[in-house]
Amino acid sequence: MRPARLTVLAGPTAVGKGVVSTDVRDRYPVWLSVSATTRPPRPGEVEGVHYLFVGPQRFDQMVDDDELLEWAVVHGQHRYGTPRAPVEAHLRAGVPVLLEIDLAGARQVRARVPQARFVFLAPPSWDELVRRLVGRGTEDAAERQRRLATARVELAAEPEFDHVVINDDVHRAADELAALIGALV
Ligand code: 5GP
Repeated sequence: MRPARLTVLAGPTAVGKGVVSTDVRDRYPVWLSVSATTRPPRPGEVEGVHYLFVGPQRFDQMVDDDELLEWAVVHGQHRYGTPRAPVEAHLRAGVPVLLEIDLAGARQVRARVPQARFVFLAPPSWDELVRRLVGRGTEDAAERQRRLATARVELAAEPEFDHVVINDDVHRAADELAALIGALV
């Protein structure tokens, strides 16, 4: 069995990484990694489906035991990380794996798995990104400001990536990403 290749999808806050990556997962034979996080679940989020929700002590243990391929503090608040074992198991079994992570995490993967494919999901424009960030309405004003500041820094990272996909339409962007992954059915 030929091992599959790892693909990392990163991009600025609110660009739609989550929606595009779940659309790829739902319509193509790709395994979307389930991250561990210290963030509490939002209404409707399911343990083991959206995230592995863990306490700070368990997260510390995962870091100490080198169970995470990468991890980062996102928006200066909670820790998020990619459990390594399921990623490696799927790749060994020939199943393409997609990570939807922040920029700091993507850089760690670049250092540890240089043969991975790095895709940047970009907004059609800065104004559109701001509209999406505000329109989501799930964060308070201070949190929105924090996320906008993060987004500016993240947008500048585009040249570090192998490919850029513009999220002008979720299905179209997901199709383009799936084609890059080589998961067309
Ligand atoms: P949210 O709290 O809205 O679900 O996610 C916030 C951010 O955390 C998203 O931009 C997402 O890309 C990032 N994220 C989710 N899982 C991981 C992970 O395992 N590692 C890293 N570095 N970032 C993650």
